Amino acid sequence: MSEVLSRAQAAFLGLALGDALGATTEFMTPAEIRAAHGVHRKIVGGGWLHLKPGQVTDDTEMSLCIARALVAAGGWDLAGIAEQFVAWMRAKPIDIGATCRRGIRDYMHKGQLETPANDWDAGNGGVMRMLPVALFTLGDGELLARCALAQARLTHHHPLSDAACVAVGRLVQQALLGASRHQLHQVARELVAAHPNFRFTDYRGQAGGYVVETLQTVFHYFFSTATFEECLIGVVNQGGDADTTGAIAGMLAGAFYGAGELPAVWLRRLDGAVRAEVTLRAAQLVGLSPWARRSS
Ligand code: MN
Ligand code: MN
Repeated sequence: MSEVLSRAQAAFLGLALGDALGATTEFMTPAEIRAAHGVHRKIVGGGWLHLKPGQVTDDTEMSLCIARALVAAGGWDLAGIAEQFVAWMRAKPIDIGATCRRGIRDYMHKGQLETPANDWDAGNGGVMRMLPVALFTLGDGELLARCALAQARLTHHHPLSDAACVAVGRLVQQALLGASRHQLHQVARELVAAHPNFRFTDYRGQAGGYVVETLQTVFHYFFSTATFEECLIGVVNQGGDADTTGAIAGMLAGAFYGAGELPAVWLRRLDGAVRAEVTLRAAQLVGLSPWARRSS
């Protein structure tokens, strides 16, 4: 199997691992986490959603919705993604963000595929599901930007969400193609140069669902740690929107460190059906990408 394909699978597995690991500490403060877990480093479920060990939440599920739609269509299909979101919402997911719910309802009732720009839409719900788009558009930066904004604006439409989606997509793609930590840091710095809100030096520990805090947390830990495990443990012990910071850190760190660095005990704990589907979908999405057409 090609190194890129293997890294793509590690990225999708990493997303799911970060979601499953972080859901335990979602909405907790670092002090509450220390009191309850010492350092939280095991996939044990629980949390405010009372999850089974290895169970994932909306971050992974909405990513799988996008993956299924693109694979079914064999190409870009925004309405297909919206339909997958509808089917997912109807199946009563364990968690769904308020902004995502609103966007999906607007599609159901009005056929609306782009939610109007809104000051309240600077949450991380568009970014958390960027991985399938990054895989599907691998090898074409313009296609990435177009598809990133289109998928995000089904539910989230804000300049900071838009910028974060494109930046995370670029970071994942460059990591898949073997970029160094230094090169990835440059991409993150370009986001900060365009939108100084995202500045992540002198990180203050805010890790909420605001997309700025989310990416600051992910960048702080990704660039200050040396392994997949250390990065993810740092992120989820910051609490706040820990499943989502975990998911985003997981996709990036998975792409960067590769399959061999994913902790085996975490992989064993991950829900088996999720583990099988993310592995399959990663391969299918890369197979549809411009990169695959060029390298075949
Ligand atoms: Mn979640
Ligand atoms: Mn979350």
